[in-house]
Amino acid sequence: MANTKNYIIATLGSHTALQILKGAKDEGFRTLCICEKGKSEPYKSYGVADEIMEVEKFSADSFFKLENELIKKNAIVIPHGSFISYIGPEEVKKIKVMHYGDKGILEWESDRTKERTWLLDAGLKMPKIFKSPEEIDRPVIIKFHGAKGGFGYFIANNAKEFHERIKRYKDHEGYVIQEYIVGVPIYTHYFYSNLADELEIMSFDKRYESNADSIGRIAAKDQLDVGLETSYTITGNIPLVVRESLLPQLFEMGKNVVEKSKKLVNKGLYGPFCLESILDPKLSFYTFEISARIVAGTNPYTNGSPYTWLKYNEPMSTGRRIAREIKNAIEVGRLKDILG
Ligand code: AMP
Repeated sequence: MANTKNYIIATLGSHTALQILKGAKDEGFRTLCICEKGKSEPYKSYGVADEIMEVEKFSADSFFKLENELIKKNAIVIPHGSFISYIGPEEVKKIKVMHYGDKGILEWESDRTKERTWLLDAGLKMPKIFKSPEEIDRPVIIKFHGAKGGFGYFIANNAKEFHERIKRYKDHEGYVIQEYIVGVPIYTHYFYSNLADELEIMSFDKRYESNADSIGRIAAKDQLDVGLETSYTITGNIPLVVRESLLPQLFEMGKNVVEKSKKLVNKGLYGPFCLESILDPKLSFYTFEISARIVAGTNPYTNGSPYTWLKYNEPMSTGRRIAREIKNAIEVGRLKDILG
């Protein structure tokens, strides 16, 4: 039996902290939530945190200030989207407290050029990238570097539209012009256990984006009259089950991505990750992004998904799956293999 009580599972109070902490408790760990002042209510109300530490504001500085305390408590930190965004993929590398997952891979997911090299190398289809606006010959989506949660993306059909629309965005840090794939978004949540060398598909989601997901509620004529433009600000996640015949292909895609990651960084990619794709009407997946950590799309499944039910026969969220992996690693004396 792993002595889980000797460890405390810690994360920042945001993103997927509820299921990470709940899952850790279900596996017998103590839990700690680092919260911004005034934002701890959910973690208290749902009873997922044994301890709460408060900071004035999330940042690399505020995290490093309390790192020694985390080390003393024998904490294992679980990174999630907000954690990485507040601390930054470069600063993450300086973390000394036990950290679940390979830190090096975060650099590959956060740099669009590196990410593209990795995914294309893994044989995935990706939307075309246009080097200059003058090359635009089809619908494209313009994504700003550092844009949070899809805010401020815009669509253009040609160079003229691009130059017209970009005028509204003055203080950006650069952008990428990507082919817009007309199809449906499907986000696949994987878990790769490097202990067992096994890839699992945990669940799927699609996002609920404002205003993209409500434009259909307004007649096309009214959209034009009020000069509506599409934005993709993420507001929530919607659970999804995919056509079963797509599963073999999705397993294959995940396996190839894991395989290629082993050439990129020390231990490669392991633990939870997500391929964010658009499926076109010909059933081709175009992957536009990878998240090399737990994604918020797993949040509808605190009690497990239809897929985890098939495999586990007990409630298994991605958060709990992480804790199970840590527990398994402690049990067989391989904790160092899953810390990065
Ligand atoms: P992202 O911030 O890159 O995850 O993208 C936000 C949203 O924009 C996605 O959930 C999709 O709805 C949409 N999107 C992003 N890239 C594309 C693309 N190449 N083609 C079609 N839709 C896209």
